[in-house]
This record gives sequence, C-alpha cells and structure tokens, in this order.
Amino acid sequence: MAYDDVPGGDPRGRWCPKCKLPIRSGEPTTNMHFHEDPDGVRGLSGPWHGECARPYWDTITPALEKMRRAFGG
Ligand SMILES: [Zn+2]
Repeated sequence: MAYDDVPGGDPRGRWCPKCKLPIRSGEPTTNMHFHEDPDGVRGLSGPWHGECARPYWDTITPALEKMRRAFGG
C-alpha cells in the first residue's frame, strides 16, 4: 500500500505511545496528559488506546485514585 506519497502528514494518523500501533478511527481512545510532556512533543500526551491508557490512569490522576478509595474500590 503506497501511503508514502499522501500529502498532509502521516496518513496513518496518531500512533499510540504505549503499543506503538496506529489508532484507527472508531477505536476507543483516552486523551492522556503527562506533566512531563504538556505539549505532547515527546509523544506521551495525546490520544492513547483506551485499553493501553487504563494502567496509567492511577499514575497520572491521583484524584481518580482517591475517588476510587472513597467508593470502596
Ligand atoms: Zn495502544
């Protein structure tokens, strides 16, 4: 498949930083934001696969963890 000559950037779209696979339209995604990479220049912040982002929710969102404790999770 000749995608190389498609103008306007990477035709494959955004790549998931976790599994290094392209995020296809229609796939569930989670918008991640890392303090270490506020602008997404390091490729961390931005859309991830929903399942790939799940293990990181607690790490980057302490509030979420507190909430879960409060609800006995
Ligand atoms: Zn992924």
